[in-house]
Amino acid sequence: VLASAGAEPQLFKLDLLKTAERRRVLAEALAEALEQDTPFFELYLQPQYRLANRQLMGAETLIRWQHATFGTLSPGEFIPVAEASHQIVPLDEKVFDAMLDWLARQALPHTQRLVWAINLSIRHFDDHRFGDWLLARCEHYGVPPQCIELEVTEHVATQDLSQVREIMRSLRLQGFGLVLDDFGTGYTSLRFLKELPFTKVKLDKVYVDAIAEDERSQLLVKGIADLARGLGLTVVAEGIETQEQMDVLRGLGCPMGQGYLLGRPRPVDSFLWRLSQHQDV
Ligand code: C2E
Ligand code: CA
Ligand code: CA
Ligand code: CA
Repeated sequence: VLASAGAEPQLFKLDLLKTAERRRVLAEALAEALEQDTPFFELYLQPQYRLANRQLMGAETLIRWQHATFGTLSPGEFIPVAEASHQIVPLDEKVFDAMLDWLARQALPHTQRLVWAINLSIRHFDDHRFGDWLLARCEHYGVPPQCIELEVTEHVATQDLSQVREIMRSLRLQGFGLVLDDFGTGYTSLRFLKELPFTKVKLDKVYVDAIAEDERSQLLVKGIADLARGLGLTVVAEGIETQEQMDVLRGLGCPMGQGYLLGRPRPVDSFLWRLSQHQDV
């Protein structure tokens, strides 16, 4: 271990830390990074397609954090840390701002024809000014809310949905799309659907993983697709990795999808470059 140079010993050390300690170190690193003016994360985009004809419909924004001493940090690890350490709101705001800034700098007409999804913690809805903030950012960058979709996950227990509903209604009126992310994994999915004005549900990868072999998963997905259609919602399946999964999903009435089969997350600029070359992204 001592023989290796540069950042490696540090990297090694973070991996060896016990979970609680690792989370504490990450929370501190995050606080430090958030104080800087320049974004510390990179924006990635993963394409979303209409399954029937493989038409590109939009893309989901995902972030990557290249830390100087800890190496590549996965959002699967640091996003929960950001939630728990109450840093998710400033982090998401930076991501939203960076994405809008990037969109505003693209001259291509493609950017307006596609829908750009951004992940947001439900915690934002604790602040009644959140809707105004979002709209103000869109106005600042000249990006129409119609091409922005907000993906919200339900994993944080939210008791009172009345303020969330009020903010979401005004966001809908302004044209933002609202996606219930990771559908089928939480405790409150159906309650969320009943009470909040979503436009889409994102079927969690766990259903997609089993879909080719497992009849029960197929029945569940068919039920979810029918339910969503009845409520006037679109369904997007996430984590599609095989052709078979895609065929089964399409057969069950799932209209949209995303996953490694269709396109991996790529840095924003390479995503757009491929788009401008009329290549599949
Ligand atoms: P998510 O919203 O469920 O995003 C989908 C995750 O699945 C992404 O992981 C994506 O890279 C991965 N994925 C996509 N297609 C496939 C596939 O075919 N197979 C497999 N195995 N994985 C696939 P990622 O980028 O590591 O993000 C993890 C989670 O972190 C996201 O899950 C999202 O909840 C959260 N996240 C990422 N960026 C942000 C952000 O800016 N703000 C917030 N609040 N959350 C974020
Ligand atoms: Ca998402
Ligand atoms: Ca998801
Ligand atoms: Ca997921």
